Amino acid sequence: MKIYRESDVVTQSLDNQRIAVLGYGSQGRAHSMNLRDSGRDVVLGLRPEGSSAEQARADGWEVLDFGTAAQQADIVMLLVPDTAQPKVFRDHVLPNLQPGNMVMFAHGFNVHYGTLEIPAGIDVSMVAPKGPGNLVRRQFTEERGVPCLLAVHKDETGKAEARALAYAHAIGGTRAGVIQTTFAEETETDLFGEQAVLCGGATELVVAGWETLVEAGYQPEIAYFECLHELKLIVDLLYEGGMAKMFQFVSDTASYGDLSRGPVIIDDHVRAKMREVLEQVRSGQFAKEWLAEHEAGRPRYNKLLQKDLEHPIETTGRELRACMSWLQDKKKPAGATP
Ligand code: NAD
Ligand code: MG
Repeated sequence: MKIYRESDVVTQSLDNQRIAVLGYGSQGRAHSMNLRDSGRDVVLGLRPEGSSAEQARADGWEVLDFGTAAQQADIVMLLVPDTAQPKVFRDHVLPNLQPGNMVMFAHGFNVHYGTLEIPAGIDVSMVAPKGPGNLVRRQFTEERGVPCLLAVHKDETGKAEARALAYAHAIGGTRAGVIQTTFAEETETDLFGEQAVLCGGATELVVAGWETLVEAGYQPEIAYFECLHELKLIVDLLYEGGMAKMFQFVSDTASYGDLSRGPVIIDDHVRAKMREVLEQVRSGQFAKEWLAEHEAGRPRYNKLLQKDLEHPIETTGRELRACMSWLQDKKKPAGATP
């Protein structure tokens, strides 16, 4: 594994380079403010009437439209949602690219699955912080940083890696370490992780556990605490210190239950299903399906989402969370723009 540190950075790589950050959501706000505080020449491109323009103006930015920002810039960082990137790129970035410019991403989806036609003479790179924007911003202001991934898809100028690394440095990434990867690796592991483990896997595991207890006659509220609420304690321990810290802090009864029963639940059948899901990611089947679903107005997405939101565990959860005063000031999700 290659990790870039501060000593690898050639900060002059960004001298005389104007950077356009397009989008002012979770990542866009953090990148643009960190770049500006690092003394970089940054302009902001947004839908002037869009929801984040007001926040941007409050943060002291002049809000340009996407095309004007891209036209002025040497480096364009696309931080609109992945599903919106093809259109923003085609309509506003592509007509304004000059040879020697670089297009940047914080996630490899569109480049990896080929939804964008990037012309010759243009560098393509990625700097992807491994954390939500508010953490990227807060760590930076505390003179620390969030680890980033860096990848170069196309190096037409011979300067793509140096420029991307200087960008990662300017948003605070090298304070923590910048790990080299490829667009394929970042995209495929990201999609697999959110499908099999983080979002898809974790929520289905929680719901299946809750249903098993409720079906066996236990109270839904007790089942909620055991299968959903307490997941946070375990995740915090894993996040802070891996398996070792979890085993150190849970009881020996819990440890033995984990060691002897965990593999019964996550068995070879689950692993085979994981390989299937990974294969659909690698072949592009998932991406094709999702892009078509988005284009069609998301009928299946909306139906499935509705079904999850109407699950009885949500009613139980709402009632119990209302009893937990400390949750009432936590209405904003962790990745939300402050
Ligand atoms: P976001 O949803 O928080 O913000 C998107 C921005 O684009 C906002 O300014 C919004 O107003 C604007 N926007 C929304 N819809 C639009 C549309 N249809 N057309 C034009 N503009 C539109 O996005 P984000 O989470 O910051 O993600 C940006 C990129 O960063 C994505 O590629 C994502 O995969 C990547 N990324 C996100 C995170 C994260 O924690 N959120 C972490 C790493 C990488
Ligand atoms: Mg689910």
